[in-house]
Amino acid sequence: MKPVQHITVLGATGSIGTSTLDVLRRHPQQFSVFALSAATQVDALLAQCLEFAPRYAVMSSAAHAQQLAQRLREHSSPTQVLQEADALEQIAAHPEVDTVMGAIVGAAGLAPCLAAARAGKRLLLANKEALVVGGALFMQAVQDNGCTLIPIDSEHSAIFQCLPEDASTWGQRLHSVILTASGGPFRQRDPHTLAQVTVAEACKHPNFSMGRKISVDSATMMNKALEVIEARWLFHLQPEQIRVVIHPEQIIHSMVQMRDSSVLAQLGTPDMRVPIACGLSWPERIASGVAPLDFTQLAGLSFEEADAQRFPGLHLSWQALRAPEGTTAILNAANEIAVAAFLEERLRFDRIHAVNLATLEQLIPDEKPASVPALMALDAQARQVAQTMVQRWSL
Ligand code: NAD
Ligand code: MG
Repeated sequence: MKPVQHITVLGATGSIGTSTLDVLRRHPQQFSVFALSAATQVDALLAQCLEFAPRYAVMSSAAHAQQLAQRLREHSSPTQVLQEADALEQIAAHPEVDTVMGAIVGAAGLAPCLAAARAGKRLLLANKEALVVGGALFMQAVQDNGCTLIPIDSEHSAIFQCLPEDASTWGQRLHSVILTASGGPFRQRDPHTLAQVTVAEACKHPNFSMGRKISVDSATMMNKALEVIEARWLFHLQPEQIRVVIHPEQIIHSMVQMRDSSVLAQLGTPDMRVPIACGLSWPERIASGVAPLDFTQLAGLSFEEADAQRFPGLHLSWQALRAPEGTTAILNAANEIAVAAFLEERLRFDRIHAVNLATLEQLIPDEKPASVPALMALDAQARQVAQTMVQRWSL
């Protein structure tokens, strides 16, 4: 029998975090939860701690941490709440941890994911923004420290599953990758009405229930733009080797085209527990709890090109990848600010792209960010510029 794997789930209360715990719950002999983290959801994290009894729990503010610690004491729980400033890095890099699920949303996940990479963990990466911001630096840390990086984003998991296990052969065999996109809730909406989009409309994804930020990113297709950048790093690709096609049924999760024009695809019911189970057990396979595809019930698979007028943000990814390094971090920061402003009803939906574009035009990195503090400084600068743009267009 294999030794039990000890797991830290960063962002345990979110959509990916709860799906991860759902898979772990099915395999108590194989996995043990070592630590859980959340930003502010005390009740949700408390319930998870009582069920999984991790050694440590971490929350984003001292006030929330104290509340959680108090509630855990009332339940005589053995879980200890860590409150140091670097608590997330501690639970990601702890010597007793084998695997880290990176399921925090946004650039906030960079430091703990990087800590896991530097400690040579098996890192299951859902937090695409960490890679979009960290770029070359992140991949260098993975390589230098023997980290096993496994993508959880469904498109990248699909590509990963289609590629040979020996990554050193990818370069010779691979021609390009084709990322599939659902097209989100506005695939067929008149682009002239995008100014009137409400928060509820943008957060209503046709096939998935996801966190609010990624839901808005799916509606603008900035999610796909971030995924293009993510694919560039994960699979060592040139920007022109990455293509995007809209596939509304979300049955094919992405494809790889080999040099001989053979195309391999990964298919399945659209449910994030599949890539999560795949990442947890790779290269073995375990049950995910997801119903298999019934091909006799599929009405058909369709494909279409992404309309640049409806989804102007998609092309910013290739533009940012060809620009000086650090530009992708600027794009990510601008988008986080713009999406947050939209969710707070301070910015029109169609202005998200305007903020991203204006920030990219105003801020050009003068040198390659060579350290995490340099990246974070660029991220902070981009947030400031983006905030000014939000104020200019504020509702
Ligand atoms: P979510 O908003 O549902 O959950 C985010 C989690 O991170 C929560 O536990 C929250 O408490 C925590 N968190 C938020 N901000 C934080 C901060 N500043 N510091 C520390 N913790 C913080 O998000 P999600 O939909 O689960 O997405 C998580 C990541 O996975 C994102 O990067 C997203 O792009 C990616 N992803 C999600 C899906 C999906 O289906 N939801 C699919 C593919 C990739
Ligand atoms: Mg995805």
